[in-house]
Amino acid sequence: MVAPGSRSEGMTRVRTVCSYCGVGCGMVLDVGMGPDGRRTVLKASGDREHPANYGRLCTKGATTADMLAAPGRLTGALRRPRREEAPVPVPVDEAIARTAHRLRAIVDEHGPDAIALYVSGQMSLEAQYLANKLAKGFIRTNQIESNSRLCMAGAGTGYKLSLGADGPPGSYQDFDKADVFFVIGSNMADCHPILYLRMRDRMKSAGAKLIVVDPRRTATAAKADLFLQIKPGTDLALLNGLLHLLHTDGHTDPEFIATHTVAAEAGDVHPRLPRLQRRRHTGLRHRRAVPGQHRPRSGRLATAAPPLRAARPAHAGADGLHP
Ligand code: SF4
Repeated sequence: MVAPGSRSEGMTRVRTVCSYCGVGCGMVLDVGMGPDGRRTVLKASGDREHPANYGRLCTKGATTADMLAAPGRLTGALRRPRREEAPVPVPVDEAIARTAHRLRAIVDEHGPDAIALYVSGQMSLEAQYLANKLAKGFIRTNQIESNSRLCMAGAGTGYKLSLGADGPPGSYQDFDKADVFFVIGSNMADCHPILYLRMRDRMKSAGAKLIVVDPRRTATAAKADLFLQIKPGTDLALLNGLLHLLHTDGHTDPEFIATHTVAAEAGDVHPRLPRLQRRRHTGLRHRRAVPGQHRPRSGRLATAAPPLRAARPAHAGADGLHP
């Protein structure tokens, strides 16, 4: 999308989305003539109107133009005269025509589903759209797959089984209303810095509390009101323990549970792992984890401000697949 009022001396400003990570920050690219006489991305800046980042970009997004101008990138079409020979440059139009003829011949002989596209989650939004259009609209195959599914299959299945839909249920707008942030298995400060800054804004402006669960002492943990440094692989025991506390202390909402969940009868709130055992299992002991506290503070913080307004900012850390 071309940004309004954006053309000056051959330069175009294009609104797009950063292709690096799932935060999906909006950015504006200044596209103009590069030193080699080709149109290229000259600069990337944050899109002030984008609801994910409101103008902020992390180092990765902000250096998009440098990455695109880095040496060694493919800047034209190459073709191997024979499979075992080195690729040689050919005009782009010729490469497109040859590819189209080859695809046409395969479709004519074997049908459209003989062709499959495997694309990348790191492609730009526009490139993803074009690849899908090529596959489904022109070749007419439904065989298009992406490394994004490999990356997110575990998380997607978990979301579907536990929440009924294959995407995270939260909204970035929750950040601006939350009283407690519970970050588990994610080092947002390094991995999703724009969301981290948004969370920090809320902590500073409204005094929201931050609980971090991680075996590592991360940059995110350094800013936590409560850091639960559990043993690796014991996150489920901790979550069951917290659920047990919330339930036995009467902080769950029976009406909501009855109306909107299945298989959540009282007996399902993990009774099997006694409290002492849970502490030993996770490596968290009351006095060591939270000096001066007898009751784990995570349960207290999470119920400190009824009605609870909590955001789960972790991107996908709790699935065990993502940082
Ligand atoms: S957090 Fe950084 S890498 Fe991720 S989308 Fe935003 S600018 Fe891009």
